[in-house]
Amino acid sequence: MSDVINVTDIFGKNVFNDAAMREYLPKNVYRKLKKTIEDGAELDSSIADVVAHAMKEWAIERGATHYSHWFQPLTGITAEKHDSFISAPDSNGRAIMEFSGKELIKGEPDASSFPSGGLRATFEARGYTMWDCTSPAFLKEDAIGVTLCIPTAFCSYKGEALDKKTPLLRSMQAVDEQALRILRLFGNTTAKRVVPSVGPEQEYFLVDREKYLQRKDLIYAGRTLFGAMPPKGQEMDDHYFGTIRERIGSFMHELNIELWKLGVSAKTQHNEVAPAQHELAPIYTEANVAVDHNQMTMETLKKVAERHGLTCLLHEKPFKGVNGSGKHDNWSLIADDGINLLNPGDTPHENVQFLLVLACILKAVDIHGDLLRESAANPGNDHRLGAQEAPPAIVSVFLGEQLEDVIDQLCSTGEATHSLKGGTLRTGIKTLPDLYKDATDRNRTSPFAFTGNKFEFRMLGSSDSVASPNIVLNTIVAEAFKEAADELEKAEDFDMAVHDMIKKLFTEHRRIIFNGNGYSQAWVEEAERRGLPNIKCAVDAIETLVTDKAVKLFETFHVFTRAELESRVEVEYEAYAKTINIEAKTMLDMAGKQIIPVAVRYATRLAQSIKDVREACPEADVSAQTELLLETSSQLGKMKKALAELQEITDRCAAMESGKNQAKAYYSQVVPAMDRLREPADRLEMVVDKELWPFPSYGDLIFEV
Ligand code: ADP
Ligand code: MG
Repeated sequence: MSDVINVTDIFGKNVFNDAAMREYLPKNVYRKLKKTIEDGAELDSSIADVVAHAMKEWAIERGATHYSHWFQPLTGITAEKHDSFISAPDSNGRAIMEFSGKELIKGEPDASSFPSGGLRATFEARGYTMWDCTSPAFLKEDAIGVTLCIPTAFCSYKGEALDKKTPLLRSMQAVDEQALRILRLFGNTTAKRVVPSVGPEQEYFLVDREKYLQRKDLIYAGRTLFGAMPPKGQEMDDHYFGTIRERIGSFMHELNIELWKLGVSAKTQHNEVAPAQHELAPIYTEANVAVDHNQMTMETLKKVAERHGLTCLLHEKPFKGVNGSGKHDNWSLIADDGINLLNPGDTPHENVQFLLVLACILKAVDIHGDLLRESAANPGNDHRLGAQEAPPAIVSVFLGEQLEDVIDQLCSTGEATHSLKGGTLRTGIKTLPDLYKDATDRNRTSPFAFTGNKFEFRMLGSSDSVASPNIVLNTIVAEAFKEAADELEKAEDFDMAVHDMIKKLFTEHRRIIFNGNGYSQAWVEEAERRGLPNIKCAVDAIETLVTDKAVKLFETFHVFTRAELESRVEVEYEAYAKTINIEAKTMLDMAGKQIIPVAVRYATRLAQSIKDVREACPEADVSAQTELLLETSSQLGKMKKALAELQEITDRCAAMESGKNQAKAYYSQVVPAMDRLREPADRLEMVVDKELWPFPSYGDLIFEV
């Protein structure tokens, strides 16, 4: 690694960013485009041709041959269709490279095979991708060559959202409008826009690619479906923040470079709690760009891993018994004049605007906690939420001592007169400087924690798009802001009215605040007493999207129509059932074709050996071999039975009509049947000769990367 890397030269090299726009666009076009990007002004389509031409020149100079509308269908990953810039050759037979404004603004992928949840029947297969100029175009470099990727929204012929970006952009608009009303109430006349900022922390596992390829469960399901625990797990806590191994180090080095080129400001990297688990966090940016960047990050993680003979696992729970992976969604609201609405300052008790914003957020989360929970629902996350390694499936808010104390004062006496201070951190060592402490310690067990000047939503799973929680956050907070502004704008005595409102909101929604240990059983019981929902599995969470409360919320702010919500519900039920179906079929395959035959071979070998020993030496003790044979045969018997049962249940569920009932059946019948098949198989793994075992063990996978 002797090459000197100059980050400033690399950063954003593959992005059609501000610097590139300035260089390649005529001044007036640049200004118009900037106005749309920065102020949210409507895009002037007359400039499209000029922008397209400039983008093409820029891209071709950097080796691009193709362009692609890059979008985020409801599969949760990104989709792209590549077109080359080549158009019909000229009269001399030379290729002409073209890219028109029309091609930039609108694409029409034949999109009938993307999930639409009934919004688009196959006979009306039209779907449009539309340029989102607020997220910069970028160049993707891979084995195919260099492709100009244009971030786009994806909608049906009738304008219904078929993707994750469209509702996100709508929700950003909603919270922008309502947050501005709040700022105006406090006399801010300069801010033109309030934008949600997002910094997603991404966890992932790395395993050796050769070993990965030997496990069908990892290939088909992205997680292990069998596997006995190795002698050592994560109990020594020696991996978290541990020294990064050479092989992983060189992976991270290349990963950073690739991300920086794409303008993703990869900032922190460290080993996580579980062996072979790592984390990456970028510097926060506008929600829409952050979501796109996170998708690019997940793609890049996978791609770079392969170059290093590794495979990156983004699944929420690749290994049973070992910590899974999440994605913390750090979120705040920042106005274009630089004010972070979530910044309490040094004396939060005097910061009335902050207190109102905070009170509104508490109200939003209290009323719509079920939707936040839903935004983190996927089959993989079912293994994490509430399993002592991630927050429970109960949404609550952690505020910390300082804010809790201010709220206490307000609710008890009606007046907040002081804020707790952090004080000084003294180590007793003269050579170490005394540090000024934060006023509040951290709480790692809360699903929604205030961390200084932002909230951190910790429920999301590692493989999920960050779009969903941000759509929910933006919209529910927009609603709380709207209701506050509606009332306060009419108030005769603003100071009095806002004071009363803050007190009222805190009093009414205090039950959502919980500063204790979120992993404890005591909290589960306490939350129940408080009436907070505890939605334990993904399947049960899905219907929260179509409650009257949710439909009213999303329709009021034009984020989703009822039809769009219903379609999403359908897509999610189907995705759940399909995921479990694949897992079950993979287990049947591995059990039937790999584990059982190997166990039979082992049993036969044992039987033969018992016979041989007895023949050679009738008085020899064969009790060990006999016990092993008995144990192997007994587990084999259980496996065979569990296999037949899983087969039967899976077939029955697969034949059901897709939708809620089918998803529920997969959850309540197939998942337990999978567990019943796994148990004897994992026992066999502990008994059968390692030389015979058909695939790498947990130990091989997570300790020998
Ligand atoms: P920690 O969670 O340990 O405090 P950091 O402070 O590094 O870690 O932040 C984690 C993530 O939160 C990073 O992606 C960071 O950029 C992001 N972040 C920091 N401040 C904000 C903010 N005001 N709004 C949104 N995200 C933020
Ligand atoms: Mg964090």
